[in-house]
Amino acid sequence: MGPFPGLCDSDSIHAMIGFATRFAPSPTGLLHLGHAYSALTAYDAARAAGGRFLLRIEDIDRARCRPAFEDAIYEDLAWLGLEWETPVRRQSAHFDDYAGALETLRGLDVVYRCFKTRKEIADAVGSAPHFAADGPEGPQYVGAPLSTHDEDALLKQDAPYAWRLCAQRAVQIAEERCGPLFFVEQGAGPREQSGDIKATPEIFGDPVIARKDLATSYHLASVWDDALQGVTHVIRGEDLFHATHLHRLLQALLGLPAPVYRHHRLITDAQGKRFAKRDRSATIRAQREGGASPQDVRQGLGFV
Ligand code: GLU
Repeated sequence: MGPFPGLCDSDSIHAMIGFATRFAPSPTGLLHLGHAYSALTAYDAARAAGGRFLLRIEDIDRARCRPAFEDAIYEDLAWLGLEWETPVRRQSAHFDDYAGALETLRGLDVVYRCFKTRKEIADAVGSAPHFAADGPEGPQYVGAPLSTHDEDALLKQDAPYAWRLCAQRAVQIAEERCGPLFFVEQGAGPREQSGDIKATPEIFGDPVIARKDLATSYHLASVWDDALQGVTHVIRGEDLFHATHLHRLLQALLGLPAPVYRHHRLITDAQGKRFAKRDRSATIRAQREGGASPQDVRQGLGFV
């Protein structure tokens, strides 16, 4: 059970603890103007509400994260004029927390080990037309646990496995506890979705909730940390709008309060393309080295 046992309705909690939001980058490259927009949007919202602004380093994927990029995050955000609470929560120091959350899900019997390789998943999807529709993370693959006998044999061989959430059973259990699952969108999704949004985590199929290589996932770690850090408002790009359907389900299963969501538009270049970390010229660092001031960056992004 999580730190907030049985909690399903977060309104009263928000009233008690005020406003807290966060910026949660992954140190896999230099921050670009899209990140600057997100960080400034969250920071300004916290200031306007007289609330808290947190920075969280989402570095569970140790193979892709670099200490130099983490240092650059602190430097670039400070240069932009942001201040955040310390100590900063670094997810790589909290794998035990995420393992505990996974244990809770195991206790609810809503996850199963999946030993399939990418290729096997692709083959399974190819041979079953009902898997063909793509969800936010690819095909909507729905699997099932192996028999104890087969699973034991694979475990004995140390075969690697991921944990998948059995979405159908998970939704059933969550709705028995909390009633129909909704999240509150105060910004907008990619198709202007806003207001009370019915959570439809089934769009993921059975999502991987703990990766083979990491023993957790972005979804589990992020939902856990938002609750632990008392985040009341999640402010982030609309590319993560769909993930919220799954996040709401995880909150209900883990007994975590649901924050309010404010997804914002994505910043694009002159050709309408999203910035990527590899576009060096669009990094905050390059702006700074090119002689721009933090105020120039703010104005260029449309902040007054
Ligand atoms: N770490 C994610 C990213 O860098 C952001 C996750 C979130 O805001 O929930 O895209």
